[in-house]
Amino acid sequence: MDENTYIDLLPKELDFGYYKIAILCDKDTDDYNFEYYPRSRELHINSSFNVCKAVNSIFLGTISNLISRIKIPNLDRDIAYNISAEFWTIIRDNPVLLDFVIPDTIRMYGIDYSVSTLGILSNPSFIGEIDYNLFEINLLKYEDSAQQYLTLIHEIAHAIEHHLSLELGDLTETFACGFAYAIVQLFKFNNMNWLYL
Ligand SMILES: [Zn+2]
Repeated sequence: MDENTYIDLLPKELDFGYYKIAILCDKDTDDYNFEYYPRSRELHINSSFNVCKAVNSIFLGTISNLISRIKIPNLDRDIAYNISAEFWTIIRDNPVLLDFVIPDTIRMYGIDYSVSTLGILSNPSFIGEIDYNLFEINLLKYEDSAQQYLTLIHEIAHAIEHHLSLELGDLTETFACGFAYAIVQLFKFNNMNWLYL
């Protein structure tokens, strides 16, 4: 790909329904390779990047911003960045997730987790569960597949939290729910094909 033309293929903005983030490739950025300006809702990435690094920076900048909106004390910029980087590898390993499909397996950290949709879970009050020893994700069967998809992203959020040893305690569900809603909103309102440029 011609490195001079790829910028035209990157998204110019990302839509979240009730607000948008503008993407600008024109500025020197800090150590994170991106800089988000909340007041103007602009995400700046370094214009000297090649296409892979530009895509990665837009994704990490966007996800970090979404995570920072979840009301969790001590979830600072470094942690938001690390969570985003973990999700980057998962979404690159499982592109089917961008089509709102529930796959039979999800690859996380090099391991294929089986994904099952069941009529009842081991705890009858749960709508999703993940077992890090058996490498299983179970989702409660819903007529509405959108709910199952939301639950799947929720369980992936728990896997990331577990892998990073975040130990969020009482806030673990706040994190997983906030993450899942943010990701579903991002994928629903935006064509994400640029992730595979
Ligand atoms: Zn949960």
